[in-house]
Amino acid sequence: MGLWLIWWDACGAFCFLFGEAVVWFSNYVIVFKVLGPWFNWNGWGIFHFCVFETIILLVEGSHFRAMLTSPGVTQRNSASPKDAEPDTADPLWWTKPPRRFCKKCKALKPPRAHHCSVAGHCVMKMDHYCPWVNNTVGQNNHKFFLQFLVYVTIGTLYAALLTMSYAFSAWRGAVPWPAWGVGEMAMAIAQVVLDIFFTIFVIAMMCDQYEAICTDTTGIEAMKRWEERDWTIVQGLTSIMGTPLGVHWFVPTLPQGTAFYEWSPRDDPDAYDIRDPSIKTFFRDLELQHRLADLKSAEMLGDGEAEGGEGAPLKDAQSTLTKRKGGSGAMSNAAQDAKLVRVYDRQGRPLLVPPKIAAEMEAAALEGDAATGKSGEGAARHVSMGS
Ligand SMILES: [Zn+2]
Repeated sequence: MGLWLIWWDACGAFCFLFGEAVVWFSNYVIVFKVLGPWFNWNGWGIFHFCVFETIILLVEGSHFRAMLTSPGVTQRNSASPKDAEPDTADPLWWTKPPRRFCKKCKALKPPRAHHCSVAGHCVMKMDHYCPWVNNTVGQNNHKFFLQFLVYVTIGTLYAALLTMSYAFSAWRGAVPWPAWGVGEMAMAIAQVVLDIFFTIFVIAMMCDQYEAICTDTTGIEAMKRWEERDWTIVQGLTSIMGTPLGVHWFVPTLPQGTAFYEWSPRDDPDAYDIRDPSIKTFFRDLELQHRLADLKSAEMLGDGEAEGGEGAPLKDAQSTLTKRKGGSGAMSNAAQDAKLVRVYDRQGRPLLVPPKIAAEMEAAALEGDAATGKSGEGAARHVSMGS
C-alpha cells in the first residue's frame, strides 16, 4: 500500500497532535496521580493499570493506523477525458450511465469514490475528512476510525470513573486524601473535564456512524441522498471490517477481505451503483426516451396526421401520451416494428427517436452550427440504426 501521510494539512496535524497530547496527559494522571497513590500498587492497582494500558495501546494503534493507512485512492493521471467517453464500439453503450471522470485526479472514478480536496485524491467510499485522525476516512481505514471511536469512548469513560472514584473514596474517608498540590488538583480536574468532553463528542460521532453503517451509505452519499440499505449492524460492520466477526474486529490489524480494496484503472470503467440518484435519473430518462420514441413511431406508422406536424415534438408526444394512455395493443406492436435512430442531444446523451425526428434534430444542429460559425460535430449526429 505504500507510505501514506497527509503532512500538508495544518488543521489535521494540530488536531491529531492535540488528541495524542490528551491521551498521554490522561495516561500520566491516571498512572501516577490516581492509581499509584490510591492502590499503592497492590493487586487492584496492577489490574487497573494493565486494563488501562491495554486500552491506551488500542487507542494508539487505531489512531496511528487511521492516519497512516491510505483510505483507498485511485491512481492519479491514469486516464484522459477520452477514456471517460462511452465505448461506442459496444452496441449497447447508450444504455450505460456515463463514466465518471475526476478532472483533478485525471482518473476515472470507480463507483462510490469521491474526490477529497484535503487528500487531493479520489477516495473509495469516502465518508468524510477527519482532522482528529488527520486523514480522509474511506474504505481502507474506516475500520481503524471506528475502532478509534470505540476505544476512545472506553478509555475516557474509564479514566473519568477512576479519577472520580478515587476522589469519592477519599471524601468518604475510605482512603486518605491524595497528597495533591494545586497543580495536581488542576490536572485531575482538567483530565475529567477533557474525558467528559471527548466522551460526549465521540458518542455523538458514533451515533452518526451507526446510522451510516446500518444504511450502507457514507457521509458523502447521505448528503447526495443515496438510496439507503436496510442492513443489520453485523452486515454493515462486516463490509467495513473486511472479515466476519472475529478478533480482527477488535485489533487494529490489516486483514484481507472485502475491504482493503485497491481499484485499478483496468477495473470495469462502466461499473456503477444503482443506489446513486444520478444513475437512477439516467435510467429513468432512458426509459422515458424509449416511451417517447415508441409513441412517435406509433404515430408515424399510424395515421398520416403526424406528417405535417412541425411543432414541438416533445409536446406532441406528451399530449399523445396522455391521450393514448387508455392503452392499445396496436401501439406497442407498431413501436416494435418501427425503425428507430440513435442520436445525441446537446449534452451528448443518447436518444432513441424515429428517423423524422432525428432528421429534424440534425437540421436544427446544422443550423445552430452555421449560426455560431462552429465547424465541429453537430449537436445531433447519427450513430447507427436501431431496430
Ligand atoms: Zn479526484
